[in-house]
Amino acid sequence: MVPHIRLGRDDCLSCGVGRVRPLLLLMQHGVPHGEAGHDMSYDHIAIARCERCGAGQIEIYGHDCFPLDDVWDQFEWYVLSADAMRRLTEGGCPTPLLATCDCPLHRVWRAAVMQLLVRPWATPGEAATHVHSTPLIWEGDRLV
Ligand SMILES: [Zn+2]
Ligand SMILES: [Zn+2]
Ligand SMILES: [Zn+2]
Repeated sequence: MVPHIRLGRDDCLSCGVGRVRPLLLLMQHGVPHGEAGHDMSYDHIAIARCERCGAGQIEIYGHDCFPLDDVWDQFEWYVLSADAMRRLTEGGCPTPLLATCDCPLHRVWRAAVMQLLVRPWATPGEAATHVHSTPLIWEGDRLV
């Protein structure tokens, strides 16, 4: 059974109008906050695609509701180039929303996304500073 993913934001960072839906789940640990079995921390890395314009974006999410932590929900969003999205959709993974999938597509994307910069949040209102709107392209085996 594939666990569901609730994105932190489902507005398209490219067109600003469409909604995005999860297309590839690269990593998921724990149970989301507010759901049965949640134990203070949860994180995921998902790639989503806009239903309207077809653009893609990466959401890197880390949650920790330990009382001493200031910002429970911390995100980083990266917009993907059309070329990167083409590579993804042509990847041929049979279980794209299974975070533990170990197919070549999952492995390559997981390794590339893990190298992206993630900055800790100091305040809950700083979401805009964690949006990277310059589309990432593939260079070798990296997203740059
Ligand atoms: Zn869009
Ligand atoms: Zn929590
Ligand atoms: Zn896979």
